[in-house]
Amino acid sequence: MVSETNSEHTAPRAAVDVPQPDEPVEPSFAKSLFLGELPQDLVTPYPRLQRDERQHVARLLRDLRRIADELYDPAVVEQQRWVGDDVIAALGEAGLLGLYVDEAYGGQGLSQTGYCRVSEEFGRIDASLAVVTGVHQSIGYKGIHLFGSQEQKERFLPDLAAGRKLAGFALTEPTTGSDAYDLQTRAEPESDGAWRLNGEKRWIGNGNRDVLVVFARSETQGHVALIVTPDLDGVDAPFRYDTLGLRGNDLRHVTFSDVRVPPENVLGEPGDGFRIAMNVLNNGRMSLGTGAVGAVKKLIDLSVEHVHRREQFGQPIAEFELVQEKIAWMTTQLYGLEATSYLTTGMMDRGVDDVSLESAMVKIAGTEFLWYAANRSFQLAGGEAYMNDQPYARILRDIRIFPIFEGANDVLRAFVALSGLKVLGDELEELEELDLLSAPVRSSGLVLDHVRSRVRRRVAPPRLTHVHPQLRPLAAPITDQIQQLRASSEDLLRRHGSDVKTQQLQQKRLAHIAMDVTGQVATLSRITAAMNADGADATATERFIAETYVRRAAGRVTEQLERLEDNDDAAMLQLARVTYRRGGSGFELYPG
Ligand SMILES: Cc1cc2nc3c(=O)[nH]c(=O)nc-3n(C[C@H](O)[C@H](O)[C@H](O)COP(=O)(O)OP(=O)(O)OC[C@H]3O[C@@H](n4cnc5c(N)ncnc54)[C@H](O)[C@@H]3O)c2cc1C
Repeated sequence: MVSETNSEHTAPRAAVDVPQPDEPVEPSFAKSLFLGELPQDLVTPYPRLQRDERQHVARLLRDLRRIADELYDPAVVEQQRWVGDDVIAALGEAGLLGLYVDEAYGGQGLSQTGYCRVSEEFGRIDASLAVVTGVHQSIGYKGIHLFGSQEQKERFLPDLAAGRKLAGFALTEPTTGSDAYDLQTRAEPESDGAWRLNGEKRWIGNGNRDVLVVFARSETQGHVALIVTPDLDGVDAPFRYDTLGLRGNDLRHVTFSDVRVPPENVLGEPGDGFRIAMNVLNNGRMSLGTGAVGAVKKLIDLSVEHVHRREQFGQPIAEFELVQEKIAWMTTQLYGLEATSYLTTGMMDRGVDDVSLESAMVKIAGTEFLWYAANRSFQLAGGEAYMNDQPYARILRDIRIFPIFEGANDVLRAFVALSGLKVLGDELEELEELDLLSAPVRSSGLVLDHVRSRVRRRVAPPRLTHVHPQLRPLAAPITDQIQQLRASSEDLLRRHGSDVKTQQLQQKRLAHIAMDVTGQVATLSRITAAMNADGADATATERFIAETYVRRAAGRVTEQLERLEDNDDAAMLQLARVTYRRGGSGFELYPG
């Protein structure tokens, strides 16, 4: 039975105490929201790929679709349990496995936006293909690209970018999942600069392939990142996992027995390993967001075709309101997700150092939206969806892992909220008001009044003014939402002090408010750019989709703000403890 009072585990170490990589001077866009600020210059004008890169990406997309049409059948891939060496070779030859790698190392030199646009297409074709190629480039060799020495880049990147070799990212262990800091795999330095590696990793994509970036811990030097190749003595990938979905992804157990890793294979500096891992994951998460964009586009295509073809009660099921509601929901949510995803990649391309919150938000929003969209799409296809000759069941099985891997979504929610609260807490400390944080719990009404008046005094109202004049009525409520996000965050800090770390239900609400505010801003920025480029009339339909998204997101923010004050959290937590104590649900109407 799970202990009721295991308080050590209520504060998620990976989510809370993540060292902030390359702490920027200015808070990022999402962190600014917690301060009650709206740095418009980071989000307007909406970023757009330069013409040359657009053409480059369009060429790569054509090649990708051609390769998929000629060589790739998701059903066959499921059966043979591998995406196919011929597919990997063709993708490599077309440049599709070295998308962001510098041209000097044989890559395509794409920006993050260009890379993610191609990842979107991988997501549209098939999840196994998206994951195998994502493990390779989004996380596998990303560490070498970001932190490798010139010699390491020259040694590894040309083969990896051309797909002659495949890379993996080895972080997870049998006892180390979300709490990735707590690695048991050990690496100890030798006198000649080499490292002795011992331990085991589980669930590693491409784990039996050519290049593995392995994360381990040293007793004396902290976390280290090592480039491990299978020719080193003591490396083994003894078995492959049998999985629910993503059956084309070769998922391995990997062991290291006294492996001597040469000094030239240390990535970055010893002690930097955890920072490297977190940086890579921050990067990788963005392509999960755009991969979800691609996958939902495919689901909408499937559903629109199906609901028009299928007739019941003497009419196409497309005519029923409850069918239309599902299609409309997918369309409008997709618009917001796409706007937020490419706003995030665009911020990174503009040189914003810290997009860790934004990429976590995109990962949460994208993977959960995809899951619910796949369920709706499945529902609309009725019993047909249950048949294995249709794609729906495979899609559901494949994508179920997305909210779990590359950062479990609940851990990321805590990360978003606590990172925002930390920035706000630091500011309060500057104001010498931190002593209030340990004060006893106050009546929330009083605290909120105090906070709201202080916000009005200190901070210029967070207005989104760089939007098309016709959109101003929709942009106006965002000011109040951001002010309330700050006020509520400050209230929580004052009420709970550092115990706010344990308040996960409130953290979840703060994270969702920040996500929905960001979604509205991204959407208004995107549609403004479209209206400015093509005129209000030509973009009327797009504007209708965007406006619907913004109104619905604003409604969700209002709801979450209310729930911060008025909720049944205490009852729910008590209920969980009751259930733990009873060791199960424990009530049977008809015991037998
Ligand atoms: C198909 C697949 C591919 C993978 N590929 C790779 C790979 O290539 N490389 C690699 O290193 N790893 C890989 N993984 C591992 C993956 O990253 C982990 O599954 C993930 O990090 C979560 O760890 P866990 O599964 O041990 O879950 P746990 O950490 O045990 O978490 C389980 C659940 O507990 C809850 N939880 C945990 N902590 C908290 C908290 N602080 N607050 C609230 N709730 C919490 C959440 O609901 C969470 O979903 C893969 C896994 C799968 C299944």
